[in-house]
This record gives sequence, C-alpha cells and structure tokens, in this order.
Amino acid sequence: MRWRAKLERQLLNDRAMQASIFNLRVPIDSGREVFLMNTMTDAQMIVSDDVAALLERFEQPVSDVVLDHLPADEREAIGLLEENGFLVPNRQDERAAIDGFFVRTKESTEELHITVLTTLQCNFACDYCYQGDRGDYSKFAEKMTLDTAHKTADWIERELQRVNPAKLHIMFFGGEPLLNLPVMYLIAERMANVTRARGVRQTISIVTNGLLLSEEIVDRMNRYGLSGVKITLDGDRDTHNRMRPLRGGQGTFDRIIENIRKVAGKTRIGIGGNYDETSVESYPALLAFLREQEFADQLVKVNFKPVIRDQVQPVKGRLTLTPVDGHGKPLGGTCMTSAGSGHGSTGTACDSCGFAEDSMSFLRSETKKHGFPTPDGVHGGPCHVHMKHAHTIGCDGSLYACAGFTGEKSKSVGHIDDRRESWRVENREQFDALNPWSECGDCAFIPVCAGGCLVASQSELGDMNRPTCHKRSFESAAIALAHDVASAN
Ligand code: SF4
Ligand code: SF4
Repeated sequence: MRWRAKLERQLLNDRAMQASIFNLRVPIDSGREVFLMNTMTDAQMIVSDDVAALLERFEQPVSDVVLDHLPADEREAIGLLEENGFLVPNRQDERAAIDGFFVRTKESTEELHITVLTTLQCNFACDYCYQGDRGDYSKFAEKMTLDTAHKTADWIERELQRVNPAKLHIMFFGGEPLLNLPVMYLIAERMANVTRARGVRQTISIVTNGLLLSEEIVDRMNRYGLSGVKITLDGDRDTHNRMRPLRGGQGTFDRIIENIRKVAGKTRIGIGGNYDETSVESYPALLAFLREQEFADQLVKVNFKPVIRDQVQPVKGRLTLTPVDGHGKPLGGTCMTSAGSGHGSTGTACDSCGFAEDSMSFLRSETKKHGFPTPDGVHGGPCHVHMKHAHTIGCDGSLYACAGFTGEKSKSVGHIDDRRESWRVENREQFDALNPWSECGDCAFIPVCAGGCLVASQSELGDMNRPTCHKRSFESAAIALAHDVASAN
C-alpha cells in the first residue's frame, strides 16, 4: 500500500542522522588525526582518521536501521559526534535553526552594550584616515556636550529599566575619546551609581590612541568599573611614527609606550594595530619590542588588522581607514582603528570585522610566537550590529546600529531623546530585517560570520544585505586553530 510505504519512509527519515552543515574538518599530522569543529555548538575535537571517515559517511542521511547494525565502537563514536552537534537529525531543520540562532542573538538581554562617541575630534593625523587628510576636519568635528552626556545617561538608565540586563558595558570611543574627559567621567560615574543601585554589573572600556592616557584617568575610571583600555600601535617605532603622527607631524610612539608603562599595572591593556602593504613587515619588530618590555605579560590581547580599504580613494595615494562613499564623504565617521579586534574586556569598537588577507595569518602566528594572546580568527561574530541591545551613541545623541555607521547621520536608527522620526524608524526596521547570511548557502562559517561586515557591504557593494565574504581568512584561521588545539593536547 502506497500510504504505508510513505509512512515507513517518513519514519525512517525522522530517525535518520546527517553530518551538520557547520562542521569544519582539518587534517593534522599527515591526516592520521583530524581536527573537528562545529561552529554552531563550538565543539572542538581531535579524532582519529577513521572517526573522521565515519563522519564522512553521513554526508547523506543515514537511517537508524542502518546505524543499529554498525559495530559497537562505531555506534559509540556516532553517539559522541551527535552529542557534540557534528551529527544532526536533518539539514533542513538545521537550516531553519540558524534563523532561530540569530533571533536569540538579536534578542539576548544578557548584556546592554553601549558605545559612546565622546567626540569625533582627534589629535592624530593618521596617514590612512579621512581625518588625517583634512587640516580643519578635527577642529570642527563634533564633540558631545555635557547636556547631551546627561541625556545619554538618562537614556541608558531607561534602557536598563526596559531591558533588565545582567550586565552593562560602556565603551568610550571617538575620534579620540580622551579629548572629552568631562563627558566620559560624567557618563561613567552616573551609570556606576545607577548600576550599583540596581545590582547590575558595569564594565567600561576605552579605545584610545594612548597619547593622553594617564594614571589619573585610569585610577578614576577604575572606580567606575574600567575593565580595559585598547591602544593602537601601527608597527615598529619608525613605522608607527610615520603612520600615526600628531597633527603637527611629530612621532607618538615613545610617549604612548611611556603611558602604557605607567598604567599597565592598573588596568588590562590590549594592543591593536592597522597595517597596509607598506607597514606589515614592521610588525614582527614591534612584537619583539613589546616582548622585551616589563609590561609584556600584562598585555591581555594583541591583534592587528589590515587598513579598511574602500574601492574609492578620496585623496591620491591614501588608503581610507574610515570608509568613504563615491564623493569622499565618510560612511563611518568614527575612527575605525579598532575594527575587528575580537571580543574582550579591553574594548573594541567592532569585534568582528574579518578583513581577510594572508598577512593576517602571518601576523596572528607572529603574535602567538612572541607569546601574546590574540583572537583565533574563527570566533568572530555575530557582531554587535545583529544585537538589539547593542547601541552606538553619536556625539549629538543619535543612535546607530554600530560604530561603523556613525559618519552617516542618515543611517541613524533612533535618538536618545526618544523622538520618533519616520526615517530613523525605517532605518531601525531595515537593520532589524537584515540577514545577509541567507545568501551564504550552506557555508559552515555562518554562525561565526553572519555574512560579514555590513559596513563593508554598504561601502563596497552599496547594499547592507549582501554578504562581504572573507571565507579564505576563516579557513586559514581554522587551520591555525586546529594546529594550536592539536599541539596543546
Ligand atoms: S557591521 Fe562591521 S563595523 Fe559594524 S559591528 Fe559588524 S563587523 Fe563591526
Ligand atoms: S560571508 Fe562568506 S564566510 Fe561569511 S557566512 Fe557568508 S559565505 Fe560564509
């Protein structure tokens, strides 16, 4: 009977198992062992090649009837693979589950994450930055007023009430955030009082060029929950001085190092850096220099990234760090020097950008070789733009989905005074509906990539909802991670 055959087929399918879409496999030791990782469950294992071969057999669904006849050791291995998410009942459900995963990520109330731009002014004239090209840009760039800072604190307090998170993290960013200390102190202190009264844990990070960093600032911010400071060094002394001079052209390396030396015992320090083809080779010398410093072991994270390139070069011979549009107008008005430097308490403007270049693998391995912790390049996202309770507040109180969009007011998604303007509401709805990963097919990196950086999608492709793919970078990071895990075993 046809209905019976259909029912049996259905039962069989229901009880089948298949390899997960999100499995990564990296052969180790000439293939005798294989590193397995599932990007959805984050399970990581080193298995023998016969277990890896067993997993291969599940590329097509295998029914329980077949499984029941396998030898006991294979059934045991299958149980372990299933437990860790390498085997799933079927891929259709897994594809559907990815949407659920992103909804949970979006709705998570674990942390309210606020990035505050205290100012867009900067005391540096970086070689690759839009600001560096404009003599008067910094002078007239926006600065948050004390009145807006009060309103910002009011808004954060309302959000705490509404979201009721376990934790509040405030990241101060710019421009150079330390050029507007009164605003930083005001918000940090007010929110420390509010969170204390509510029993919410508050942490703070500062992303700074390091020139104005002092013990006094760190001591005061420690009272409000400072968890780390991230400082940018763009290569060895000479290269950094060329890439990141003061607006008057003087070098900044020595003073930054001196400041790190003074505060290293008082807070966690992360080092970031931006490189291009003219500076990448100077990074091993920077790493060797940092290793020799007495504060070396207090550096909790070191991570370098390529300068964000735009297809349009606004000024001859310059690379843009701030993405610009076809008229040279910045798309991201913030300094993007910390983009993509990985999660952590030292604070990052953007935790997830994966601007791939082979040099990233090289620098990651050099960083590890010099004994510094660095993100593995696989665990990147989903980034804050996909989280409903992560906000960036511009100097005028405009709200943005992430720091990368702050240069374009028309991308604002709200305002701290809760004004309702249809264009901001439409933007909010547009951001809420973005799902660039839906064009990524069965890519194993979807849970950690989500289709790439939306700022890059906007500036490179003119469409926030199209993926910017750096799969090769993920693949090489997975290989490096596999070897690290294998050598630690
Ligand atoms: S969209 Fe890009 S700049 Fe914005 S948080 Fe995500 S990775 Fe970072
Ligand atoms: S952008 Fe590329 S690496 Fe990222 S999920 Fe899509 S296909 Fe995969």
